[in-house]
Amino acid sequence: EAKGAGRGTHCVFEPQMDEHARARRALEHELRDALTGGALELHYQPLVDLGTRRIKGLEALVRWRHPERGLISPGMFIPIAEETGLIVPLGEWVLRQACEAAARWPAWVSIAVNVSALQLRYRGFAASVLAALAASGLAAARLELEITESVLLEDTEVNLETLHTLRRLGVRISMDDFGTGYSSISYLRRFPFDKIKIDRSFVRDLGASAESSAIIRAVVGLGASLGITTLVEGVETEAQLEAVRAEGAQEMQGFLFSPPRTMAEIDVLLAAQEAGAGQAA
Ligand code: C2E
Ligand code: MG
Ligand code: MG
Ligand code: MG
Repeated sequence: EAKGAGRGTHCVFEPQMDEHARARRALEHELRDALTGGALELHYQPLVDLGTRRIKGLEALVRWRHPERGLISPGMFIPIAEETGLIVPLGEWVLRQACEAAARWPAWVSIAVNVSALQLRYRGFAASVLAALAASGLAAARLELEITESVLLEDTEVNLETLHTLRRLGVRISMDDFGTGYSSISYLRRFPFDKIKIDRSFVRDLGASAESSAIIRAVVGLGASLGITTLVEGVETEAQLEAVRAEGAQEMQGFLFSPPRTMAEIDVLLAAQEAGAGQAA
């Protein structure tokens, strides 16, 4: 056990631990190269109005196109990027790419970008958001930053101040994965979020658990009374769509409407929607 070992103590690791540490270090190096070498790409998943089934926004989701392992999902490498501090330049790259993509899309589409705790805590964060908006020409009101509760757990005052600064500039702030942390509701009192994204675990359990639909209903009610838009994540079936619509949520995101897609595929979806009748500006 390395834990508790004093300075200068020789630590003996289990062979497989050593292996694990080595593989992780290798991955860390590869990730650094991927970021500078253009091997990261953004896919975009539609955020859809539950009533009209029209796209209102797109969430940027990063992928790593690995030469041997194919497309690697963020769940595999975002934690490593967070541990190594690489999340700051990686997050900045995501922000710039996403704003540039959105600036090419029609003005009625917003763009949602995930922000890690470490990134938000980084002193230059608000300035880097402004720089990304300025460089792309995207209106601040079209940018939504997605924050999870864990972000607010650390350095709360500093983080809240940064969020307030961004919000004053017109950027919107969403609470992501609502209901998975310890104190989701208390954070709604501390910061005026623009949107609550109800975690997909509640939708997954909809058929099996009466509690899940009661919780969705309660959160939608809470959002309505606070003037916060509610979106339900992970809608995969028509039955789930009907159920969350019945609870009064305004937006959804999920494989039923569309998985995350490449920019070229999104161009096609947006063009089809623009060509459709009755598109509100
Ligand atoms: P998230 O922000 O909650 O994003 C939604 C995740 O749910 C995405 O996974 C999406 O593909 C998945 N999803 C959407 N609809 C469905 C559905 O109907 N069924 C199922 N089973 N899954 C669905 P993805 O792309 O693997 O991203 C995972 C997480 O990685 C994200 O969760 C976010 O926390 C993080 N992430 C992704 N891109 C970035 C990034 O650029 N920066 C940071 N800091 N985190 C990122
Ligand atoms: Mg998100
Ligand atoms: Mg989420
Ligand atoms: Mg999630």
